[in-house]
Amino acid sequence: MTTVKKFINSILKLIFPVECLNCGRENYYLCDNCLKKILVQPTLAPFDHPLTHLDGVLTATNYHENLIAQTIHYFKFRFIQALAEPLAGLLIDFVKKIDFDLKNSLVIPVPLNKKRLLERGFNQSYLLAKIFAEHFNLPLSAEIVSRSRNTPHQVGLNQKQRRLNINNAFTLNLPEAVRNKNIILIDDVVTTGATLEEIAKLIKTAGAKTVHGLTVAKD
Ligand SMILES: [Zn+2]
Repeated sequence: MTTVKKFINSILKLIFPVECLNCGRENYYLCDNCLKKILVQPTLAPFDHPLTHLDGVLTATNYHENLIAQTIHYFKFRFIQALAEPLAGLLIDFVKKIDFDLKNSLVIPVPLNKKRLLERGFNQSYLLAKIFAEHFNLPLSAEIVSRSRNTPHQVGLNQKQRRLNINNAFTLNLPEAVRNKNIILIDDVVTTGATLEEIAKLIKTAGAKTVHGLTVAKD
């Protein structure tokens, strides 16, 4: 590195220090020690309503654990894309732990609406899905499902309102791509499962064999 570059880097580090969001260790957004503190718990997320189209929702961790909530917050709202790596690592660990059968699987990230994609600059679910699919050498497609309309935030809505809010919000662009496939729908957090259910409805109708939601955390 040239002296000038070194100088610029040290200035940048002073202004935007890269440090672990939990312990402050330098050069990591979330260091390995802190990542290990996040418990990967192989549990099926309990939902207060039956899942009709989904064959199951698999969640790696609990959103009520402080460190995971904080990490996801930095990832989504402070736009630290580098956190996709440790967060996707939790998904990978989890799937290995429960020995989930990934044969004939196709990975689809939950699409973000255009407005939010412009605000954030990236789709967090896509980043997670990409690392996950590459790790297991699975096909991934972000083109199969898209958002057909912008929906207001789901925060603060009850189960019924969430269903109505998300109703017909998605379009299946390539129905033939999901036929006879086991679909893994990836998102960062699941709350009531209304979004995953809505997408699963489309995919199942088009002839997918199974549809599972897979998320980093359950809120
Ligand atoms: Zn740390």
